[in-house]
Amino acid sequence: MSETPFHPLDHTWPDQPADRGTLGGRPVLDCVTGAVDDSGEILLGPAIPVRRGAEGWEWLVVHVTASPLPVGEEVDLEVDREHRTALSAGHTACHLAALALNAVLADRWRKEARPDSLGNPDFDQAAITSSRIEPHGSVDVYRLGKSLRKKGFSAENLDPAQVAAQVNELLAGWVAADAPVHVQVPGPELTARRTWHCSLPDGEASIPCGGTHLTRTSELGRVSVVLTLDDAALTMRTTVSMC
Ligand SMILES: [Zn+2]
Repeated sequence: MSETPFHPLDHTWPDQPADRGTLGGRPVLDCVTGAVDDSGEILLGPAIPVRRGAEGWEWLVVHVTASPLPVGEEVDLEVDREHRTALSAGHTACHLAALALNAVLADRWRKEARPDSLGNPDFDQAAITSSRIEPHGSVDVYRLGKSLRKKGFSAENLDPAQVAAQVNELLAGWVAADAPVHVQVPGPELTARRTWHCSLPDGEASIPCGGTHLTRTSELGRVSVVLTLDDAALTMRTTVSMC
């Protein structure tokens, strides 16, 4: 099996953008997931008709460069460290913000809901429609529609500013706790089911995740969210101000 230090965009859940860097000195313009079907054809990103890890397909990390590399040449792969750290910070903050949001919204559930790893009803998983990791931040969009109401969630009189203030208070405590973060990797293959872990004062948090992360919550410096409610969409913008 060949290896690469580059993180490719996942076509199934495209949350964390591709790494930047160089391959044999050439800039890597993009890095995407590739899948090889029975006929040997390589399909890229959105053109892949199955979910990541589907049986019968071979999975690849595809590095896009402006000029082709000579076949057989040995090259160095170098990831832009600064950009990667900024994305890792954004991704770690994204998960912490989701857990904090679950905790703050917990008393709005009228029916039993599937709990997150800290035992709160998992609003994040029940309502999320998209998650985008950015350098030093993330944008998560949640749908507060009929289907969520049917599951037992009440968005009545939800004050985004008040919820954000409570989320930020929790986040400040978690950053101050200097909690260790690690990603559990069960196998070397691209499709291995990885899990993000964080040992918070509130308990051992875990979330399935294919992205990259920091190693301690204190590295985040400061994390804060801004919530906006527009129609039935709740948008959470998370920002990290690293020291
Ligand atoms: Zn993740």
